[in-house]
Amino acid sequence: MIKEMADSLKNELISIRRQLHKTPETDFEEIKTAAFIREKLTEYSIPYFVSAKTGTVAVIHGKNEEKTVLLRADIDGLPIKDESNFHIKSERDGFMHACGHDIHSACLLGAAKILNSLKDTLNGNVKLVFQPAEEGMGGALPMIEEGILENPCVDGAFALHVEPLETTGKIQIKDGSIMASPDDFEIIIHGVGGHGAYPEKCVNPLSVGTEILREYHGISEKYNLPCVVTICSFNGGSCRNAIPDTATITGTARSIDPITRKKLIEVLENTVSAIADKWKITIEFNFNVLFPPVINNEKMNSIVQKSAEKLGLGITLLNEPSMAGDDFSYFCERVPSSYFKLGIGNTSKGAVYPIHSPKFFADEDALPLGASIMAQAAVDFLDTF
Ligand SMILES: [Zn+2]
Ligand SMILES: [Zn+2]
Repeated sequence: MIKEMADSLKNELISIRRQLHKTPETDFEEIKTAAFIREKLTEYSIPYFVSAKTGTVAVIHGKNEEKTVLLRADIDGLPIKDESNFHIKSERDGFMHACGHDIHSACLLGAAKILNSLKDTLNGNVKLVFQPAEEGMGGALPMIEEGILENPCVDGAFALHVEPLETTGKIQIKDGSIMASPDDFEIIIHGVGGHGAYPEKCVNPLSVGTEILREYHGISEKYNLPCVVTICSFNGGSCRNAIPDTATITGTARSIDPITRKKLIEVLENTVSAIADKWKITIEFNFNVLFPPVINNEKMNSIVQKSAEKLGLGITLLNEPSMAGDDFSYFCERVPSSYFKLGIGNTSKGAVYPIHSPKFFADEDALPLGASIMAQAAVDFLDTF
């Protein structure tokens, strides 16, 4: 039944997605996006409240209050210039829905409409969370801190993310870690500058930085840590014949579980302090702890798998986590959760590019499928968990 209901919403979901696609907004400034989502909820007669400025939470009360399932969609775009071949373009220069959060929002609105029409049969409540700022400042944590997991208390959560590299409608899922913690770091090397002719009288921070880069290279293999460490900038000096006083390195350090994460931070910091001791200089190491890794609950995953089977959607079991991050991890830390991916790739409609590509393209046939899997997973959770 859910499949048929979602199919009948296809044109409406395409129109919602296209509207959102035109106005990508970021970091708690999703004003138009939030207004549009709230308008739709009003149209569907689903009451909502505001959380974390541009976040929206709606609750559908079922036939009893025994359990509550949370469905989350992120709503923000990216500061990326739209270079896609899709005929609907971003109307904000320099901004684009290149991670498919417009699709997530449309799918959740579709699921909301379906579940609201089934509310007299639901074995509990459904909490719909339209979350801002996933890409940058992180909207999940402030929403949780404002109490969105309470009243009614949430027992389990689902989130969907699009995957252009997977065939349209196929569900990718993985037990345990599925997304990494996307932490980053900054290293400021305080050397001793001077004339380029007399390096022996200086401590060249660029030489020191090169040594840090060499030690960081291959850190995953050297320490047997499932992680990714990438240097993304190395800056210092402004003159061809002078050694600068300082140089700065920045990079990203991604790990897939809390133990690896702790160990990785120690290794990165100890490496820097050993090099600082050797050169007898000060090196600042600033590690920026961002989102935790996304760790899926197996029981929640099995609900998604069964729901996908009911809907006739194929399933790909992933062997490896993605090294990208998602702040849905804050939900996973607090309630049993499943974060799964929905294929949106169809080369007969358009070339396939990964998420965050300025050429990102989605097969919109995936929209009713995304709405149906969210609605079905919610129903199945309330019936079985
Ligand atoms: Zn993204
Ligand atoms: Zn995303």
